[in-house]
Amino acid sequence: MNKCIYCNQEFIELSEHIFPKGLGGGNIYVDFVCNDCNNKFSNIERELIQKSFIGFIRTVEGIEGYRKNRHPAALKYLDIFYRDTDLSLLLESGIEAGLKPYFKPQIIEHGSNYLAIAANNSDGEQLQKHFQRWFKDPYIITKFPDKDNKKYDTVQFSIDENKNIHSIHQSVSKTKKHNIIYLPMTVKEYDDIFTPRVFLSADGRLYVRSKSPKQCIKFLKNLVSYLLANGSISSPASMPSSATIESPKITMHFDFNLKKCDRAAAKVLLNVLLHFYPILKNHRSIENIKDFVLGSNVFLKGGFTDKKIPYFKFTDHHQILFIVSDKDLILYISLFGTMNYSFVVEGIGNEAKKEFGVYEAISVNYTDGQIKEENPLDYVQLLQDQINNLI
Ligand SMILES: [Zn+2]
Repeated sequence: MNKCIYCNQEFIELSEHIFPKGLGGGNIYVDFVCNDCNNKFSNIERELIQKSFIGFIRTVEGIEGYRKNRHPAALKYLDIFYRDTDLSLLLESGIEAGLKPYFKPQIIEHGSNYLAIAANNSDGEQLQKHFQRWFKDPYIITKFPDKDNKKYDTVQFSIDENKNIHSIHQSVSKTKKHNIIYLPMTVKEYDDIFTPRVFLSADGRLYVRSKSPKQCIKFLKNLVSYLLANGSISSPASMPSSATIESPKITMHFDFNLKKCDRAAAKVLLNVLLHFYPILKNHRSIENIKDFVLGSNVFLKGGFTDKKIPYFKFTDHHQILFIVSDKDLILYISLFGTMNYSFVVEGIGNEAKKEFGVYEAISVNYTDGQIKEENPLDYVQLLQDQINNLI
């Protein structure tokens, strides 16, 4: 029977990867994190590997993680816009693995008209299919519930015999897959050319983007009314196409929580430390870092750092270093050689020294998932010079 270091629960099934699969780690599990805690951590992990710059790097490197969809990409929850100067339109875009841009199929307000834009017929048909389904039961969700409040704010449209459209606000506990989800437009620099749109995301959901819920309701009401009167929406004569973009004018808008990224990085470091040195599991000094990972309001020295150590010379690896300094242990991680975190675990230095001496270096090959100990001795002098700079 295994015991979880976070909740003390006993468990059998291993589910927590030593190193997140989304960062290219292989299928190697730890025996000290239960499934419940593992599930809870997906919230902080998502912040680091899907929403932050790490998501961008994963997309460039083609590291997909678990799910595959139409446009596989690691970078999620990110607003990407393509500015089409010919049409004077700001389009919803996406980026797939290998950093290839594509247009999300969308219906966009254009003057007093609407345009249906898709990069190819199949995308256009998908959009039609989803939009028609919504049209039969037109709900939009304007506000998401927080953790405890399970209610969603929704607006339902109804059409009377005179083809007048009414909107009814209500709160519901469940949403349906074909509901349209409201997203606010937050990027101010595009105020001049931004118009509301409804688009189909790679996850097969419809989203509407506008400057406010009020503008969103008005846009959808007008769109429904236009469709009732005209039957369909035309496409522009010259369609922008992903294949023909030579120098795409793409803007990305990141929105992520730094503290959650710190917690996710600390969790990965603790996983690696305790996997290689399980005896340290019982040391009271790791309580602090555990509490930090769990989100308690504890102080843990360290976090995101711009300090780099030119330690491993090879590419395709994440680098992890454990360094004993006085009585403390410094945990250091460099993800993709660019995003660096370091944390100080106080009072565990002597025990750590018994386990691995002054340094321990571990590399994670993100192309094949291999995790292995490296020999840091060649670099001792280099490290020594830089240890004090790491925090
Ligand atoms: Zn647990």
